[in-house]
Amino acid sequence: DDLIAGIRPDRLKALAAREAKRFAAGRTKTKVALDKGAAPFLDAVPMHWMKDWPMPFPLLVEKAEGARLTDLDGYEIDDFCLGDTGSMFGHSPKPVAKAIRKQAKNGLTYMLPTEAALEAGALLTKRFGDFLWQIATTATDANRFALRVARAVTVKPKVLVFNGCYHGTVDDTMVELRGGKTTARPGLTGQVTDLATLATSVEFNDLAAVEAALKTGEIGAILTEPVMTNSCMVLPAPGFHDGLRALATQYGALLVIDETHTISSGLGGYTRVHGLDPDIFVTGKCVAGGMPTAVWGLRPGVAAKYRAYNETRPSGHSGMGTTLSANPMQFVCLRATLGKVMTKKTYAQMERGAARLEKGLNAVIARHNAPWHVTRVGARVEFICAEGPLRNGTEAAAAHSPEVEAALHTALLNRGCLIAPFHNMMLVSPATTKRQIDRLIAAFDEILTDLFS
Ligand code: PMP
Repeated sequence: DDLIAGIRPDRLKALAAREAKRFAAGRTKTKVALDKGAAPFLDAVPMHWMKDWPMPFPLLVEKAEGARLTDLDGYEIDDFCLGDTGSMFGHSPKPVAKAIRKQAKNGLTYMLPTEAALEAGALLTKRFGDFLWQIATTATDANRFALRVARAVTVKPKVLVFNGCYHGTVDDTMVELRGGKTTARPGLTGQVTDLATLATSVEFNDLAAVEAALKTGEIGAILTEPVMTNSCMVLPAPGFHDGLRALATQYGALLVIDETHTISSGLGGYTRVHGLDPDIFVTGKCVAGGMPTAVWGLRPGVAAKYRAYNETRPSGHSGMGTTLSANPMQFVCLRATLGKVMTKKTYAQMERGAARLEKGLNAVIARHNAPWHVTRVGARVEFICAEGPLRNGTEAAAAHSPEVEAALHTALLNRGCLIAPFHNMMLVSPATTKRQIDRLIAAFDEILTDLFS
């Protein structure tokens, strides 16, 4: 019973060692280039997350097209990570690439709107619903601004978030539930304020805990994903979202729905597909086809309150906005993505592919009798190396098996399949072919055969 996710530790160790060696042996060109060129970067990577991939050293990507990457050593890799959602509609969707080429001749940033901006605004409302929009550059920023507005109009200091959540590097949300108390996450760099004064953390799917927090009168916003996609993948229990909506209204908090990942659900995101009713809607990453862009929208009633607030606000910095946000390149990419890429037809294709992947992975897990399970939210599929379903962040944390995941990810990559690091997430883009999906299922089967037979 010292099995790890049902696997004998010696087998896991052997697999991890073999696959790491195989990765390195096949990537001499990459290794030479890194040795020669990575030194100017802090810790040899341009962004420290790139160190968190499980391979012995990162890939250097030469090009990407559709759902395929080619690396410096010439390997063609089926990309199911897709930039962790930024490229969920495939790499460089044609209408977006065309829009970029055209805009490149007309300037990249002016701090002024364009006609394309006006069309993008209309498309945002058409796709996501009746909100008044602002453009940001990252979903982190969009959430930050949404929280400022919520605090401004409710005049309540705290945000309620769910244990195990992730909403970008927004300080206020970097809390967790420890022994029933909200505390700052221990790994936070340079954290000096007590985040428990800004946020309350309760478990997902626990409406009684949500109500108890709201009863303090301190909560100005409930910030949540429709599905906890950053904690394995925890689905909402029936009635949970209706309950959140009702409680937010009852206690005068704003409901902020972060659709940055669940935009995989279908046209209009989880909100449209499942009829949610947020006060503030946030999405980002893939909304402009991979051009760094995020959006946040206020319901007209919230916008009216925010306007009234702004009229009484002392002049000076608002703490909102960034200089390069809402630039002309973002507008043309938004317009192209919302109008031509993010369509009913593309979502139907993604749904079909993801269902195929889900079914295939489930069959492999069943065949090997692995104590694992699979969840799916539209185009987003996740296998979890523990039994399910998971109901909250604490269960999700216990289900994580970083050692297994790291070995598996490298093994999959050695078989030509890239999945998202940190957990076991796979996205199916409209460009992803059946062959690519079947190859991933076959690779998964080969690895589980090695681990379980
Ligand atoms: N919201 C959610 C739900 C996310 O998963 C993420 C990033 N993984 C973000 C917001 C932040 O996105 P970004 O890193 O692009 O700011």
